[in-house]
Amino acid sequence: MNGQRPDIAGLRQDLDEVDSGIVRLIAQRHDIITAIAEVKEHGAAGLQDTERERQVLDGVAAAAADLGVSASLVRRIFRELISDSVAQQARRLNGEPGGRVRVAFQGVAHAYSDAAAQKYLAGRGLDGDLTGYRTFREAAGALIAGQADLAVLPIENTTAGSINEVYALLREHELYIIGEETWKVDHCLAGVADVPLTSLSRILSHPQGLEQCSQFLLSVPQATPTSYFDTAEAVRAVAEAGDPATAAIGSADAAAAYGLVVLRHSISDRTDNYTRFVVLSTTPAPVDLRIPCKTSLILVTGHEEGDLLRCLEVLSGSGHSMTKLESRPRPGRPWEYMFFVDFEGNTADPRTAAALDELRAAALYVKILGSYPAKALRAPARPAGLTGQPAEVTSVPPSETVAAEQDPAEMLEAVAAAPKPAPGKSRSRHYKLVDRAARQDDTIIAVGDLLIGGDGFVVMAGPCSVESEEQITTTARFVAEHGARVLRGGVFKPRTSPYSFQGLGWDGLDLLVAAGREAGLPVITEVMAVDQVPRMAAAADILQVGARNMQNFDLLRELGKVDRPVLLKRGLSSTIEEWLAAAEYVVAQGNQQVILCERGIRTFESATRNTLDLSAVVVVRERSHLPIIVDPSHGTGSRPYVAPMAWAARAAGAHGLLVEVHPEPAKALSDSEQSLSPAEFADLMRHLASIPQWPAPARV
Ligand code: PEP
Ligand code: MN
Repeated sequence: MNGQRPDIAGLRQDLDEVDSGIVRLIAQRHDIITAIAEVKEHGAAGLQDTERERQVLDGVAAAAADLGVSASLVRRIFRELISDSVAQQARRLNGEPGGRVRVAFQGVAHAYSDAAAQKYLAGRGLDGDLTGYRTFREAAGALIAGQADLAVLPIENTTAGSINEVYALLREHELYIIGEETWKVDHCLAGVADVPLTSLSRILSHPQGLEQCSQFLLSVPQATPTSYFDTAEAVRAVAEAGDPATAAIGSADAAAAYGLVVLRHSISDRTDNYTRFVVLSTTPAPVDLRIPCKTSLILVTGHEEGDLLRCLEVLSGSGHSMTKLESRPRPGRPWEYMFFVDFEGNTADPRTAAALDELRAAALYVKILGSYPAKALRAPARPAGLTGQPAEVTSVPPSETVAAEQDPAEMLEAVAAAPKPAPGKSRSRHYKLVDRAARQDDTIIAVGDLLIGGDGFVVMAGPCSVESEEQITTTARFVAEHGARVLRGGVFKPRTSPYSFQGLGWDGLDLLVAAGREAGLPVITEVMAVDQVPRMAAAADILQVGARNMQNFDLLRELGKVDRPVLLKRGLSSTIEEWLAAAEYVVAQGNQQVILCERGIRTFESATRNTLDLSAVVVVRERSHLPIIVDPSHGTGSRPYVAPMAWAARAAGAHGLLVEVHPEPAKALSDSEQSLSPAEFADLMRHLASIPQWPAPARV
């Protein structure tokens, strides 16, 4: 008998030899792929060749059929091998060295996030030290604090939808998406012993786990569904309790890890239950142009009808197909929305970069969250030869259409009626997005229901500095009653002397916001430093950059990253060109909501504190689409001159005023000489209405 039938041990030995032969062949295949990647590295060929992949799969399936082996099994195995090859080549093209990384995720070991993180690392040839945190915020916090190199967080689920908290983290922090991963959520029911389902009295899981298995739960009506903060944690709790009447819904992987018995496999209501995860880093990771790539961004559009459509057309018109569009409420702006957009494209591609420039010009706020290799490695869907550049049209300077000797009102009308410059070439090398050429229509900035820019005229008034609750509330009430629409008040003061009053700081901000709220006015205050930006942006409605900070480029860049209007004062000795270039710093980061403010410049003239340059208003209105307002208080430095210059500003075409008002100017702790008394402010406002505004109102 022995000679005819080989024993099982011998057969196993044969099998082991075949298996190590398969592994050797996989290693050989791997080396060839490396050689191919080397060739591709020096050429322009794309990463993936779908036609070639189809041929390989058809070839091996036919060979399998010839040998009497299941063609579908062989196809499945080769699909895995090919997808690994593509990932291997992508890593090489992108110069990713592999190695060890520290990864933060939400949950405990064996949670779905843990599994997705492991899958992501495996696909990139990385080893990881994974740490689970209780909440998404804590996981992101570990990344920001430098305790982790990456964070892997779920962003959406095919049954339960988007995960708001992760979107909020992306909005609030400077985090970049550098990768994505998908994971099929396959729930099972696990318990400590193989008992009949009828003997269960309690089933633990994360509320989403319970929700996703609601049909199954109907079949065990005697068991009470019990919420737990995490599926893997629920599995662990059941294992620790050791009660056979309690079971958990979670992954089979978690059940195996905690020594539980699987009572039922695949109990989700839907079999197509996938979660998409984003891989976050604190620095962007450029992706080689040959790797199919996705880009994610946050978008805030204007408030006119069709504004969203115009932005989406920028992407589609430049051949970028959108894979996701999701709207979320805009924080602090009831019934306004921001959009989360994913599209196929790479910011390193000049065509995508040009489209994003165009998008910035069409939107109010754009935050790029990152470009990253698309999980589904598809061939780029973009048609060739699209540039996304705006058409070049020569502009007609409005000044040429103004006749010399005319009635001033007629002149104003003529200026208003002059053709607006068509989109064309920027006249400056220092700015392009704020240039009129980038956007023909005036930018209109909404602060609640208040619109700044276009044909509107907005008065912002209040004390130079917030000094006390009494002072700011009295002023707020008074200016609101007399037509101001925004309350001003400095809390961090840029004073010439370090011995002068420096402002009440954050306490002052609370007083200002409370006074504004009581009077029904949004508030504007000056932000002096980069580290003040997040807190200021959370509390104030408009963030002011003072004249002395106009070229504080770090501050400008930081303000470009927040979704809050910025009022940019002209520097004490800055040209209009430099001022617009400073605005470009903010806008280039994504925040298009910049209001310019002319506040006087240093000249040889000493009769006034500064020389209020009202010609800047007409120049800026011609050169830029941004709103411009005038500050006659700092512009003149002298109370009697404030109102006439305010009226002149309106006639010159300003979109509004910034005026200092104090209940008792003589007692003001700063800028006492130029602050208007309540009566003087009332007088200024009374006459303002009779000044024709540019563009002039239609005459009958
Ligand atoms: C202010 O508005 O209080 C202020 C300090 O203005 P500026 O930066 O124009 O001097
Ligand atoms: Mn002041």
